[in-house]
Amino acid sequence: MTGGLMSTNQHIDLHLHTTASDGRLTPAELVLAARQLKLTLIAITDHDTTAGIPEAQAIAKGNPVIIPGIELSTADNGHDVHLLGYFIDLDYAGLQDSLRDFRDARDNRARRIVNRLDELNLPITWEQVAKVANGGAIGRPHIAQAMVQAGHVRNVSEAFEKYLYTGGPAYIARKRLTPEQGVALIHDAGGVAILAHPGLVTDYESLVIRLVPAGLDGVEIMHPKNTAEIRARLWELAEDYHLIPTGGSDFHNEERGPIASEVPPAGCVERLQAQAQRYRRQSG
Ligand SMILES: [Zn+2]
Ligand SMILES: [Zn+2]
Repeated sequence: MTGGLMSTNQHIDLHLHTTASDGRLTPAELVLAARQLKLTLIAITDHDTTAGIPEAQAIAKGNPVIIPGIELSTADNGHDVHLLGYFIDLDYAGLQDSLRDFRDARDNRARRIVNRLDELNLPITWEQVAKVANGGAIGRPHIAQAMVQAGHVRNVSEAFEKYLYTGGPAYIARKRLTPEQGVALIHDAGGVAILAHPGLVTDYESLVIRLVPAGLDGVEIMHPKNTAEIRARLWELAEDYHLIPTGGSDFHNEERGPIASEVPPAGCVERLQAQAQRYRRQSG
């Protein structure tokens, strides 16, 4: 019965990054890559920005269909919690204002990390870091790469293990949204809020249960970082709390894993779409 739908879903990827955040392909290149794979529908979910979406939509012209999405960074007790937002209204000023604040905060923080490295006798220049980021939002991975280029460390892992880890000598905390605030922001923008890659979230079970009353709409079950055991538990949670199960490749570049490496659960796009109707703002 679901055979047709499942084979259809093999041509869907709901979690993709572009150069607008930390992906390697430009929005246009991503659209062309998706076409080559015969994908019919993709969601662009860059970290804290929707900047890649208009370009992708203009190039794609419906082939593939592009769901406007985002991956919002929030924090729970210092732990990263990423929320995927689907069918968001790109023109909603409240969302764009918040995203601009995040970017400013992120930029300030990155600059402070560069200063701190200087104090630690590990000088890198802001220009080097910006060059590595290639126009995208600057984060710790870009700083780590600049440190490799400057010869301070052998590789990105060493930069994190020695200096950039949370609480490390070159770590600067950043004020971030709570997951509850993130869910509310996605809803305000007319979008559906999904907990991204729960397998990477500390104590995801209690977080999911806590976020249900805050309006969490679903959980990303099919994700490369979710083990079989975690997926099984997530299916139970989705069932018990009426959450929409979703999935996607979380594509950044070929080394990390290919596009469409995961198949979204049958019917999930329809459920996301139906749920988004509930959040659409009356004013239009
Ligand atoms: Zn993520
Ligand atoms: Zn992602």
